[in-house]
Amino acid sequence: MSYRNFTIETDADGVALVTWDMPDRSMNVFTEEVMTELDAITDQVVADDGVKGVVFTSGKAGTFSGGADLKMLRAMFDAYEAQLATDRAGAVAELFERAGRMSWLYRKIETCGKPFVAAINGVCMGGAFELALACHARIAATDAKMGLPEVKVGIFPGAGGTQRAPRLADTQSALQMLLKGETLSASKAKAMKLIDEVVTADDLIERAKSMLRAGVKPIKPWDEKGFKLPSGPVYSATGAQTWPAVSSLYRKETNDNYPGARAIVKCVYEGLLLPIDAALKVEQRYFANVLQTTEAAMMIRSLFVSMQALGKGARRPSGVPARAIRKIGVIGAGFMGAGIGYVAAKSGIEVVLLDRDQAAADKGKAHSASLLEAAAKKGRSTPAEAEAVLARITATPDYGALADADLVIEAVFEDRDIKAEVTRQVAAVLKPDAIYASNTSTLPITGLAEAFPDPKRFIGIHFFSPVDRMMLTEVILGRETADEALAVALDFIRTIKKTPIVVNDTRGFFANRCVLRYISEAYDMLVEGVPPAMIENAAKFAGMPVGPLALNDETAVDLSQKIMRATIHDMGEQAVDPRHLALVNDMVDREGRLGRKAGKGFYDYPAKPAKKKLWSGLKERFPQKPADEVDFEELKHRFLVTMALEAARTMEEGVVTDPREADVGSILGFGYAPYTGGTISYIDGMGVPAFVALCEKLESRYGERFRPTPLLRDMAAKGDTFYKRFAPAEAA
Ligand code: NAD
Repeated sequence: MSYRNFTIETDADGVALVTWDMPDRSMNVFTEEVMTELDAITDQVVADDGVKGVVFTSGKAGTFSGGADLKMLRAMFDAYEAQLATDRAGAVAELFERAGRMSWLYRKIETCGKPFVAAINGVCMGGAFELALACHARIAATDAKMGLPEVKVGIFPGAGGTQRAPRLADTQSALQMLLKGETLSASKAKAMKLIDEVVTADDLIERAKSMLRAGVKPIKPWDEKGFKLPSGPVYSATGAQTWPAVSSLYRKETNDNYPGARAIVKCVYEGLLLPIDAALKVEQRYFANVLQTTEAAMMIRSLFVSMQALGKGARRPSGVPARAIRKIGVIGAGFMGAGIGYVAAKSGIEVVLLDRDQAAADKGKAHSASLLEAAAKKGRSTPAEAEAVLARITATPDYGALADADLVIEAVFEDRDIKAEVTRQVAAVLKPDAIYASNTSTLPITGLAEAFPDPKRFIGIHFFSPVDRMMLTEVILGRETADEALAVALDFIRTIKKTPIVVNDTRGFFANRCVLRYISEAYDMLVEGVPPAMIENAAKFAGMPVGPLALNDETAVDLSQKIMRATIHDMGEQAVDPRHLALVNDMVDREGRLGRKAGKGFYDYPAKPAKKKLWSGLKERFPQKPADEVDFEELKHRFLVTMALEAARTMEEGVVTDPREADVGSILGFGYAPYTGGTISYIDGMGVPAFVALCEKLESRYGERFRPTPLLRDMAAKGDTFYKRFAPAEAA
């Protein structure tokens, strides 16, 4: 028999080498067709007396498989939703069976009577690692990576992962891996007992075959009498110690916001009390359940489908041929410029890092050296790699070095005149088709472009700090920016492996506008006398990674002061709440509390290992409400709503044109509660009418900043969603 996605070669010893190599795909993924073929292959090898055992591997160099095709899951989910209205019971039963197909198939392999050895030659994630766990032995190449990352996109490993992992590894390590969606190195997986052997890639197949020749038992330990769980039974002395700790770890990590994570804990706990077949059914019930949650639908869409689409250039103008970005210039080797130079050089691009004098330029380059050193200490870089990256960075004050650059990114002081002067100097040496970008965070691109002879080639590329860690970049279109400039900016961002969103030119662009709302809401809460610890905790319970006051300390309180002053300068006194201005003026001018960089801000930062602590002066400044008079749930809503409402405004104003960008941008740019799927999915997820009602309730209590916009009211009346109204070209 021949298959589209697999080849089978059986050797003289009866070892069948099954190689998974999907045509037309750079990576193997599980699709309906792959599962059908794998099912047939299992029947074939079982029926063939000449086959003693199977080595299962991938034909793609360096990768085994990325796991299930999440688009398949979404299609399954859409079919379920369509059927739901007419036949609820049927829809649920169908979802259970379809979602369970992978699980039943793996169980079939596990109990087919012939031994399967998984030869993991590279990256092996999700459903693929679950298949490996169902095999009778696992052997991995030294640099293979594996894991069950499903929780990160709102679901969980529902093809036996929650059952087999804690039957091989101890309960605590298994749960930790499952709840964090951790990626394991081959050696870590072996230490956890999830795989049996680690060998070099060259020896992998031979070693797997000789394992089979030596004899691999085609029965799993849990299918034999007397099987003992690695950590002992759930109801035992160790179980009594483990499980309370698990519950608190789960609460701490998730604040109970992620149905997928909650289901993992339940699956492991309940599953370990049962024989494997019943346990797999329990897992499947939870899986079908989690698939029906809003959180799963929103997270799969934003964190998987949309993020991939944007990363691959969904917004790239199709008419412009791809251009390789070989060399860039970065002007200003300060905090941001140094970081931009580093990520570009690390991606193989030649970088001219230019500052006012050699010493300033060298200092910027030294930043790369220190990041590389830190990476080497963690085993993530080698001396040879570091040398190559540094060799690509030329630190200089000489504009002449920019003559053959394909793209120049300006990151000098946030000052119109200085930027204009630098722009003219660059323009004088730049080749005619090169693109010029500014990393400004506040100045309109259209105005900055006036200093450049050809504003069609002028664009904004706004990075977030720290540049090496933040995955988002905002690309800002000036009024005259042409498609060529956008294409080059997106090609560059793709090369440095970041995710772009494309926005139109306005004050604050997208991300900073929303972040300012977050911090501003915290100022309001302070003024109302909400205890500062409740403010910070409410934000974290709502799903934000960092409380607004801690975030303000990171971005600097004097920056908030500068922004308020500039806003007043440009838009008038009424544009800033005087109580907010008084607060930051006091913090900065009277107390010297500029934020983390000053060792004091809304928090005090004592020397390590002591932890930061909220500044006690805040409680004295604002008469404190008793905690039981504060509606904690409402605090959470205020944070999520104020940012979502701002995102809705950016769409209404045409700053952001694609809801996927608002969603992905809000999660990657400022950590907007990922379980919501992002600012716009938060609104669509609860339904526009419910969101409008929530806004109205908050407006009646806290004022017009919560007033629903005309667009929202119109959408509520028409039963629209953002994803329908602003349907992206290839919406998920
Ligand atoms: P910075 O002060 O750390 O660095 C600015 C650098 O520009 C300095 O090294 C300075 O010597 C150099 N410079 C100044 N004038 C120059 C000139 N005429 N010629 C050459 N070099 C000159 O500032 P930063 O925080 O890196 O910010 C730079 C830009 O990035 C600003 O536009 C800022 O708004 C923007 N930005 C900053 C952040 C952030 O978090 N700091 C985030 C996004 C964007």
